Amino acid sequence: MAKTPARRRTLGRRFRWVRPVVLSPVVARPGYWFATACAVVYGGILSGFRLRREGGLIVAPHLPRWAYGRGGTTVGAVYLTTDNITPAILEHEAVHRAQWRRYGMAFLPLYVEAGQDARRNRFEIEAGLTKGGYGR
Ligand SMILES: [Zn+2]
Repeated sequence: MAKTPARRRTLGRRFRWVRPVVLSPVVARPGYWFATACAVVYGGILSGFRLRREGGLIVAPHLPRWAYGRGGTTVGAVYLTTDNITPAILEHEAVHRAQWRRYGMAFLPLYVEAGQDARRNRFEIEAGLTKGGYGR
């Protein structure tokens, strides 16, 4: 069935409970813990178990560059990178950690939906474009 605007509105009404449930802390927080656990295992193995706490994050350094996106990627509380570790970057990634805590696993589709252009991605803008290395 084609999704006409009327059909879309009906679906929107029928599933309007999804957003508050998915984004409630009861659902989002375990998603954040799950993402963190997966990233600890992934980053732990790939970094040779050289994880460390820094800037409110668990940093997994010395990763091969194929193992994450851009200069580094935060998954849950874990910042995956090779060597892109400065105070500004850590501040930027700590905001992504807070976003993971707020949205849980829903952060993945929300981030993708926000777009690949960091300058227009609302999550990157919130984290700070200049601190994230996207400055003009
Ligand atoms: Zn970022």
